[in-house]
This record gives sequence, C-alpha cells and structure tokens, in this order.
Amino acid sequence: MLTAFFHPGYAAPIGQHIMPIRKFGLVADGLRDAADIKLARPAPVSMEDFGLVHTPEYIAAVQTGEPRDLAQSQKFPWSPELFPSVCLTSGGCLAAARQALKDGVSAALVSGFHHACADHGEGFCTFNGLIVTADALVAAGEARKVAILDMDLHYGNGTAQLAAARPHIFALSLYGNDFWDNFCYRDVSERHHVDGGNHLSFELPAGCNRESLLETMERALPLLAARKPDVLLYQAGADPYFEDPYSPLALDHDDLYARDRCVFEFAKANGIPIAWVLAGGYTSDVSKVVRVHLNTFAAWRDVYGG
Ligand SMILES: [Zn+2]
Repeated sequence: MLTAFFHPGYAAPIGQHIMPIRKFGLVADGLRDAADIKLARPAPVSMEDFGLVHTPEYIAAVQTGEPRDLAQSQKFPWSPELFPSVCLTSGGCLAAARQALKDGVSAALVSGFHHACADHGEGFCTFNGLIVTADALVAAGEARKVAILDMDLHYGNGTAQLAAARPHIFALSLYGNDFWDNFCYRDVSERHHVDGGNHLSFELPAGCNRESLLETMERALPLLAARKPDVLLYQAGADPYFEDPYSPLALDHDDLYARDRCVFEFAKANGIPIAWVLAGGYTSDVSKVVRVHLNTFAAWRDVYGG
C-alpha cells in the first residue's frame, strides 16, 4: 500500500498559465480506483519550518501580496489563495518524506520547488519544499542526511544554492535545460552554474535517449548511495518528455517509465526510503503530462509489488 498526499487546495487560481496546475487533481483522479494507493491529505507546513529556509521578508510578501514584484517572483499572479496553497504543497512533500521514513516509499502530488531561493521565487517555484522538508526532518531529529535526486528537465538552481550551506543535504540534478536567474538555457553546452561538494549536476545533451539517460544515471546514482542518506526526495519531472515545449530530449512515455523504474530499483536495492513529487510538465495536451506521472506510480508498483 502506498500513501500519496493530495489536497484540493494545492492548486492556486493562477488563470490561463503554461503551468497546468489542475494536473494535481487529474493525477489524483487517475489514482482513485487503485486498491493499493491511499490518498491522504497533508497538513500545511508550519511557519517555523518555512523560516528554516526562507527570509521573513519573502514569506510575508507571498502571504500579503506586497511588495507585489517579490510576491510574484515565481511568475504566478498573486491571489489571497496563493499562500495557503504553497503551505499545502510543501506540507505534502514533508508528509510524504515522513511517510517514506515509516513505509519505505511515499509520494506527494505536488510540484514547484527546485528553482525557489531563500529570498525569492523563480520558475513557478514559490518556496523550496525539498529543502524545507530536509531542514524540518533534521531539526526534528527524524533524519540526519537527506538526498535530493532532481530529474525535472531543468537544472535545480534554487536547491543547489540552498544545499551549498547545508552539509546535511546532498543534491543531484540531471538536467536537459540549464536554469539560472529565472531564465532557462535550452542548450546545456552553455554552462551557467558551478557544482559544489554536496550539489552535483549531470547534463543531458539535446537528443538524449533512453540509453544515454540510463547510462548517465548509472554514473550519478552511486554518488548518492555513497552518502548513505536517511531518505531520498525524488523530483520525477514530466518535462523531459519529448513533446514538452521546453524539452530538447528524445524521451517518450516508456523511456520515462524506465527512468522511474531505475530510480525505484536503486532506492530499493540500497535500502533508501524514497518520497517522490511530480515536478514540472508543460506539454499542451495535459493528458500526456498526467500519463508521465501515472507511469511513475506504475513503476513504483512494478518495483515494490504494490
Ligand atoms: Zn522543469
């Protein structure tokens, strides 16, 4: 049985937007009939936990809408519903990590974390729920070391910056689109970031296929296992999908299933509890985005036996 954290309040009213925020509900709908998956509602993250990572000025801006530029730095239109929604999405990530520590594996139907920095948001990411989760677990004595495996299409710049000052975190980003200062670079041969001791990245070149993806994972994942994390947070992005407007990669649904299966087999073989989140996905036919995310659940079932 898998517990997956979902809340209808995850979706803020952002209007017509390239980010299909209704996907959270669509993925939940796709799971409701699964006898081996239980949908649970998370509690919102506490202000104290946000304060472990984000500045009081930035938290207040998202809460009140002022200053407006800062409140909308993630590129969502501000509304009074925005703050409660992002408290729930970070709460979902934290709840899934806690559940994974108990059950070995869990999921949260949330996204929008890895570009968020301490004092502002970027790239549809308001707060960095991954780092908030890691810090909250460590502060509560529930974990000593937390790993983050970021397989969203985009480089996880906010996660890397925040990890740099946190020796209890190890972050790996496998990306096909670089991302820096609220701008994405489709050509990964232009380097725009610097790796550090506990935040490493592997670029996926344009045209990257399944063979090349799995070969890169084979090089990257042992680095993560060597850190012996207490829990692994996995960003199972849908935007590497070849029809995604941001993606230069050649990965279809079966290839992304193979990616997820490889991650779960790795976590299981190394005895690392794993919690995953949906991360990005912008293909105009939202059913194709949802299919990537539902296939992650299929990969979980095939590896963990439901
Ligand atoms: Zn992305």
